[in-house]
Amino acid sequence: MKKQRTAVITGSNSGIGLGIAHALAAEGHNVVINSYTDNDEDHALADEISKKHGNQTIYIQADMSKGEECRALVSKAADRFGHVDILVNNAGIQHVAAIEDFPPETWDRIIAINMSSSFHTMAAALPMMRENKWGRVVNIASAHGLTASPYKSAYVTAKHGVVGMTKVAALETAEDPITCNAICPGYVLTPLVEAQIPDTMKKYDMDRETVVREVLLERQPSKQFATVEQIGGTVVFLCSDHAEQITGTTISVDGGWTAL
Ligand code: NAD
Repeated sequence: MKKQRTAVITGSNSGIGLGIAHALAAEGHNVVINSYTDNDEDHALADEISKKHGNQTIYIQADMSKGEECRALVSKAADRFGHVDILVNNAGIQHVAAIEDFPPETWDRIIAINMSSSFHTMAAALPMMRENKWGRVVNIASAHGLTASPYKSAYVTAKHGVVGMTKVAALETAEDPITCNAICPGYVLTPLVEAQIPDTMKKYDMDRETVVREVLLERQPSKQFATVEQIGGTVVFLCSDHAEQITGTTISVDGGWTAL
């Protein structure tokens, strides 16, 4: 029988994080979903996941732009379930503008949410994993953690930072039964990507279908979006015994983007 673990997924009331929550819940693990909001819908979402998969899922509010709240998310999850075994750093936002037009406060926010939050959650979770003699950290980076695009300076910087931080964490835990890896998705059709479509349609005077094919998926050779289920499945694999010796690396789920 598979061992039941406790997983914390940051930024998981939507998109990829929610897909990962479903995938880990389907494995029978306890799951903590999170965002910065504290609405009835957030708690209802957790109940829905529990009901669907017969596991225990709870919602914990914490703002990943604030270091103390990142650390508190991990300790509250441990208070509830005893320890945290799987940490998925997924929370992320995007802003598209040339460097000279990029609002400095938006730069700070993206660096905080997309990169520094992983430092804080790992700082809180790794000692628990060491003590419990098992741990998996999966950082959701991006194809933009390995390559760049114009007008996404903060996002590309943060995601490259996450890839670097993943390697450091893997080396610091190499002799412990803990692995730290990053998944680098290409385009996945989630609210984060959906939000970029109207502006791009206006900018290039294109219809939606043309924007998807010729702009968004221009660099994704498969010409298909990756799905949240595929990212969830990759997390489940990284948490399995088969992945025990996979640490400090990146797994691209990008339809060939980074092979170009
Ligand atoms: P999304 O907008 O659907 O989800 C982002 C999640 O982060 C939401 O649950 C949101 O509530 C949460 N969040 C935002 N700010 C937060 C904060 N301050 N505190 C806590 N939670 C916060 O986007 P997504 O596409 O599912 O993105 C998830 C992750 O995947 C991000 O890190 C993103 O960079 C990465 N990613 C996405 C794609 C893609 O094509 N969608 C590709 C590569 C990487």
